[in-house]
Amino acid sequence: MILDSGQPQSLEAILEGRQWREDAQRSLMDEFPESTVVAIKLNTPGAIKTNAALRAIFRAGLAEFADRAQDEGFCDERWHVYISRATGPEAFVVYKDDWRWVKAVAVRFEDASAMGRLFDIDVMRHGQVGQLSRTDLGMPQRRCLVCSRPAKECARSQTHSAQELKEAVERRYLDYCGTAARRLRCAAKLSGDRAGRASVDGANPAPTEEFGHV
Ligand SMILES: [Zn+2]
Repeated sequence: MILDSGQPQSLEAILEGRQWREDAQRSLMDEFPESTVVAIKLNTPGAIKTNAALRAIFRAGLAEFADRAQDEGFCDERWHVYISRATGPEAFVVYKDDWRWVKAVAVRFEDASAMGRLFDIDVMRHGQVGQLSRTDLGMPQRRCLVCSRPAKECARSQTHSAQELKEAVERRYLDYCGTAARRLRCAAKLSGDRAGRASVDGANPAPTEEFGHV
């Protein structure tokens, strides 16, 4: 299964990754104080956070989210894409648009697309404490990957085994990106549409990061 292949990450590495993400977010919010900052990553169970299949999922989902944003007419000011992080692929995008609107589109992507269920999209802006939540917008709570109950309830009570969660991720992967043709189309869409519009800020990312290998 896809979540059995790869290098398990220590808790320390995952916590360092969280700090890195927070620094990147803060840096973008400082640079674009009037804009909405979006942090995009995978939401996968277990200690393995990246491998070829997960990177393919990320590229494909990112392309779909970007298409949805474009359909909404969002104005993107900055993209940072990190495909090769050991703790999982991540991306940050800055939109000029209202953060509530951006969050609503992100929630619809997470809920409506089979691929979206494997993503975590956080939406924030300068001067606001924390991230905008689904509850803030009166939108439904996130559903569990395995069953249809709210994800938080299943996580809290550990309703599902690690194996069940892995199998659920596998199903999503096969549902959405299971055919080579679809994967190729997803990857081509992302490299064609997004790479050209992305840019790197010298102060962010960190020098060890790959950028734009899509
Ligand atoms: Zn569940």
